[in-house]
Amino acid sequence: MQNAGLATLGLNWRYLAFDVDPRHLRAALDGAKRMGFIGVNLTVPHKLLAVDMVEALDESARTWGAVNTVRFEVDAHGQTVARGFNTDADAIVRSLREDLGVELPGKRVLLLGAGGAGRVAALRLAAEGVAVLHLVNRTEAKAAAVAEEIRQWHPRVQVQLGYPKGEVDLLLNATSLGLAATDASPLAAQQFSLDQARAVYDMIYRPAETPLLKAAQAAGCRTANGIGMLLYQGAKALEIWTGQPAPVAIMRRALEANVYGRG
Ligand code: NDP
Repeated sequence: MQNAGLATLGLNWRYLAFDVDPRHLRAALDGAKRMGFIGVNLTVPHKLLAVDMVEALDESARTWGAVNTVRFEVDAHGQTVARGFNTDADAIVRSLREDLGVELPGKRVLLLGAGGAGRVAALRLAAEGVAVLHLVNRTEAKAAAVAEEIRQWHPRVQVQLGYPKGEVDLLLNATSLGLAATDASPLAAQQFSLDQARAVYDMIYRPAETPLLKAAQAAGCRTANGIGMLLYQGAKALEIWTGQPAPVAIMRRALEANVYGRG
């Protein structure tokens, strides 16, 4: 998707993938800087490690404590420095809005998962002004820790551990259950029925339709998978590197062709 975006913007740049051992991340970032790279994206586990390796942090990276995008820029002294950004958190909100039609302020949300993506989603949804947030996670202590963070930073959000009794506007799966065909459902069916949810979002995008999304469609819920999250974090990164609006529709086509083999 990045190369399709760069070509559309008429830039003779290339986006390449490198497999970097976390032990060599600092050297790799330094090498990229010295070779005149415009920037890089980072994925797990580099996102957390890079926070202490870049010379400057954008507000987005400081807020979320993770760097997924780096831009190499020249400072006032003529030195090239690495500035870290985070484009993941905003991408969740944008995808919920544009792919699922959910405007978050005032909404009731059930969030499954409190790993890296679940924690950021919970905090970002709270920042967006959801009214009620129900948190469910296999390791309950992790959900409790996220709930504590929300109570501290967003005291107006009602945060509860466990399944709701009534209806929710949105059910969001941020667990990795559904990636493998043999996975159990992330939802405890005896504690929550999909009839209680209006819309269901699964962060997983491969497979395109997890069993959770299939069941949600059958129950009449609006549904979307996580491909939009991946798209929008990349589109924002392209804008950070180029200073130009990202050609999102073209990037989406390229991404879907690549992930799903259709174009
Ligand atoms: P983490 O490893 O940090 O978290 C995994 C989460 O899944 C935890 O909540 C974990 O619970 C739960 N989980 C894993 N296995 C089981 C199980 N057997 N039973 C119950 N719960 C389980 O991963 P991430 O937060 O980074 O990613 C979570 C999901 O989001 C993944 O599917 C990933 O592909 C997707 N994702 C999608 C993105 C996109 O762009 N669309 C971006 C980032 C992530 P516990 O805490 O108890 O271990």
